[in-house]
Amino acid sequence: MFKKILIANRGDVALRVLRACKEIGIQTVIVHSAADSESMPVRLADESVCVGPAPATDSYLNIPNLVSAAAVTGCDAVHPGVGFLAENADFAAIIKAHGLTFIGPDESHIRKMGDKVQAKITAAEAGLPLVPGSPGAVHSLEEAQKLAKGIGFPLLVKAASGGGGRGMKVANRPEELSEAFSSARSEAKAAFGDDTVYLERYLDNPRHIEVQVIGDSHGNAVHLGERECSVQRRHQKLFEEAPSPALSEEQRRFIGELAAKATADMGYLGVGTMEFLYQDGEFFFIEMNTRLQVEHPITEAITGIDLVAEQIKIAAGNKLAFTQQDVSFTGHAIECRINAEHPETFMPTPGKVDFYHPAGGAGVRVDTILYSGYKIPPYYDSLIAKLIVHGRDRDHALARLRLALDEFVIEPIPTTLALHKKLLDAPEIKEGNYSIKWLEQDFL
Ligand code: ADP
Repeated sequence: MFKKILIANRGDVALRVLRACKEIGIQTVIVHSAADSESMPVRLADESVCVGPAPATDSYLNIPNLVSAAAVTGCDAVHPGVGFLAENADFAAIIKAHGLTFIGPDESHIRKMGDKVQAKITAAEAGLPLVPGSPGAVHSLEEAQKLAKGIGFPLLVKAASGGGGRGMKVANRPEELSEAFSSARSEAKAAFGDDTVYLERYLDNPRHIEVQVIGDSHGNAVHLGERECSVQRRHQKLFEEAPSPALSEEQRRFIGELAAKATADMGYLGVGTMEFLYQDGEFFFIEMNTRLQVEHPITEAITGIDLVAEQIKIAAGNKLAFTQQDVSFTGHAIECRINAEHPETFMPTPGKVDFYHPAGGAGVRVDTILYSGYKIPPYYDSLIAKLIVHGRDRDHALARLRLALDEFVIEPIPTTLALHKKLLDAPEIKEGNYSIKWLEQDFL
């Protein structure tokens, strides 16, 4: 097992990894920017290293400084957390080249899945169903127009290097293709430095259902069930639940087994998520995230498996501690992402939290670095807390969520806590009957 791990991230995920390390008995080194020197992970870690000024490009994304921090503190592994460099194949390769273990998949898998065109080809080879679309990258408008005839409208022009919902444009009719094609390309170029795009049929009312997978270096792979993440704004998830209220036992087993088999066939190492759109009883693979997900705690709640601890142990060469048969699902879990954002305008609301009081009680988990007096810096992602509830069934989980949201206090800054309280009153949430369009089209 590793002796000392460098945690190359910040916020609640840094704390999450820190907790897993402490539980296993591994020493921790946390990196931080000058803006985060007072943060809770910095105070709780065994050692900390300032890797640069506030902007993430100079600190959390500064690979030479991160590698130096690992070297001077004598770490033997690096955990990238979620976001920042977690899906950066070059970072994984550089860590390895320095004789350290990158806690994540092999760089070749990160590279393959980071390019969505390549990811779809790999998924098809592994037997996963795809959204109908172009067979690969599309290089010119003429080619796009030709392919579009076969795919049909509406269609989506998507960036091969896309992420976070950027570089994605809908063309409802043939006349809109030219504009969608050029704007997706220029957005992709600006955001990812790569203007490669491809085409996909635009599903009009799908759900987003993803499968958690995990594989070890001994050829074993299992799935840990699905998560329903259809409550989205601008392709960003806000509210997630497991299991999905839309699937039957048979469908659950079908997609889980398919994802686990694909993971094993790829020889994939570590935790990963296969994302699907689901419409009219059919699944369509859209992408694989080669890292831990923000919403991993709901899977932990229903399986009782510590995903981060498993991830670390697998990276150290251990065999998976369980087989598919050992995995069982208990009850229902829901996660609310609490962002420092205005609940109506979604404008970021960084600033000082004068009073913080988390929810508690049975079946309630809060992952956050907040405390009374904490100043939320304006430089980073607006996610400030994750509230996770677990109940014996969906109604029980919803009842616990209502209690938890009523107890939770973050003052005086506006947060999305208020939005989540309103969400709970919606009949679509009560019934579990919503698609990825619902929040923006019918609720907000
Ligand atoms: P990103 O990596 O930017 O998150 P994804 O491919 O995962 O991109 O898509 C993000 C979201 O965009 C999905 O959860 C879904 O809401 C929507 N989306 C993606 N592809 C399609 C499609 N073919 N039809 C309809 N919606 C889609």
